[in-house]
Amino acid sequence: MAEITATQNPAPRARVKAMKEYHPPLGCRDALRLDFNENTLACSPKVREVLGQISAGALTRYPERVPVEALVAATVGVKPEQLALTNGVDEAIHVLFETFLEAGDELLLPVPTYTMYEVYASATDARIVAVQAADDLQFPFDRLLEGVSPRTKIIAIANPNSPSGSVATRAQLLAIAERAPHAALLVDEAYYHFHGETIIDLVGTVPNLVVARTFSKAYGLAGLRLGLLAGPVEMMQWVRRVLSPYSVNSIALACLPPALEDTVYLDWYVSEVIAARAEFETAVDAAGLRRWPSRANFVLVGIGPQHAEFVHLMRDAGVLVRDRSSDPGCDGLVRITIGTREQMKQAIPALKNAIAALNPVRGKQ
Ligand code: PMP
Repeated sequence: MAEITATQNPAPRARVKAMKEYHPPLGCRDALRLDFNENTLACSPKVREVLGQISAGALTRYPERVPVEALVAATVGVKPEQLALTNGVDEAIHVLFETFLEAGDELLLPVPTYTMYEVYASATDARIVAVQAADDLQFPFDRLLEGVSPRTKIIAIANPNSPSGSVATRAQLLAIAERAPHAALLVDEAYYHFHGETIIDLVGTVPNLVVARTFSKAYGLAGLRLGLLAGPVEMMQWVRRVLSPYSVNSIALACLPPALEDTVYLDWYVSEVIAARAEFETAVDAAGLRRWPSRANFVLVGIGPQHAEFVHLMRDAGVLVRDRSSDPGCDGLVRITIGTREQMKQAIPALKNAIAALNPVRGKQ
């Protein structure tokens, strides 16, 4: 028998060693949360009722996702076999990448975009091919098309995108799907409700299209971790091999039906945010700041070299915002989530005061 001598602890895979650490700044968030693009208020009161009724006995059971998946599938208009619920869209991204990306493959994505695509791809043996958006941060359609290679395995597009708030059109997405029939096109519709346009109706028709949606934003269930992935049946069969059957817990599953049912609450929250977004954009313009047009529940604002001080001043005024300066092409930019009109009435003076404090000359104008 070979002698075993332990000289060091077990080493992780080389790819894991090379991964960057990612620590979202989640500490001390007892303030107006305009930093993570969550719902800033609450989920539907109908969800709250169901939560209160969950028995201790119910918690002893393993979660049964199939009936809820069928309900969600019917709601978004796909077949149950075409849809999987996930532990947030993050798990959908993780599992999709684990299912399809291997050595020699490329993940193609426009940047700046949602951080977790890069995080999960960097744990695989695939190469990341990033296409930088121009200064206007609009969707870099032509250059993304040029970036498609025989090795492209997944193309990940957040639509609307974060942190820019920009969108890709349906025609552009279809052209990309057609140019890369050998790749999966992931359209991440996390911010769908604030945009109002979707491509989920083409799931199953476009053979390489997969769509993700989250319940963390408009529905206000970020703490429950609920997302979905919808795609052609064959692709979803592979995804399901990798996906844990229990990754969506029973409390989350119990809360989904009332959340889906309460369309009055959802519509109210979405229209509130859209109205608040317009008011906030007007205020940003009045403050003489550059901003990027947004179809999501946030606005990217150009603060300039004093971006870190701005974030601190806002925090001192009780408003959390997110510095995106380290995102590619985003130096000096801060992303501000849009809440209700009432909440933005607190954020707007805070923004004006912070800008005045940073730039007394402009503040006096
Ligand atoms: N996709 C995008 C584009 C996002 O911005 C976010 C959240 N910030 C997510 C996915 C993550 O969603 P979830 O909470 O469902 O994991």
